[in-house]
Amino acid sequence: MTHIIEVNQLRKSFGTLDVLKQVSFNVEPGEVIAVIGPSGSGKSTMLRSLIHLEDISGGTIRIQGQALAENGSYAGAADIRKITDRMGMVFQHFNLFPHLTVQANLELAPKTLKKESSAIIRQRSLEFLGKVGLSDKADAYPANLSGGQKQRVAIARALMMQPEILLFDEPTSALDPELTGEVLRVIKQLAQENMTMMIVTHEMSFARDVADRVFFMDNGEIAEAGPPEQIFGNAKLERTRTFLQRVE
Ligand code: ADP
Ligand code: MG
Repeated sequence: MTHIIEVNQLRKSFGTLDVLKQVSFNVEPGEVIAVIGPSGSGKSTMLRSLIHLEDISGGTIRIQGQALAENGSYAGAADIRKITDRMGMVFQHFNLFPHLTVQANLELAPKTLKKESSAIIRQRSLEFLGKVGLSDKADAYPANLSGGQKQRVAIARALMMQPEILLFDEPTSALDPELTGEVLRVIKQLAQENMTMMIVTHEMSFARDVADRVFFMDNGEIAEAGPPEQIFGNAKLERTRTFLQRVE
């Protein structure tokens, strides 16, 4: 079977700082991976490399068997586009367009990038707003939404491109605690629908609940990977246990 994500010996340096050191992993279709680890361990850089928001210094990235990067070099622009169009990313700070309504935020990328009629795109935007519980906010502007609502709009917007893979970089870290639940519920629903996801999170109980596997990143490498029962209940490495004692 082809892995949906295949990363081999991925390296990334910023100047003399080695941020990712020979990171290798596979993700299977429908898997949910929680990525945990201390600040500065390379979690964001790893996710960003997967959709070419960073250049990399070495290694190979394959998405659904197709080479996005080989031996440290990304494919040509057209191939990058073709591959990364199948992936969506949701950021800590939502990154919504403030001058556009919620519905226009959802429709912008598909209208620009997809050869579909406005009617179909419109219909899909209403469907996904319903899915994240925001049918009544189609005409609102981001400034008039709570943080939790903004993040749900960002998730709906990512779904508009009908991605096969969703990447989340600390989707609830900018939210007041009482708003994290509504966002985590949407992500959990996507997990139940078998969306392939990699989720960088500090929400350990959420990771334990939804992840099929947990990657513990430390100092530029995936130090330990395994099912949540292993990582949270019976970690092999002392540094995994030490990290979890600090955050839980
Ligand atoms: P995490 O998401 O786990 O907190 P990051 O991937 O953001 O870690 O960062 C890993 C390391 O790379 C940190 O030391 C950070 O300061 C450094 N870093 C990240 N982005 C840049 C950049 N654009 N230029 C220089 N250093 C960077
Ligand atoms: Mg980060």
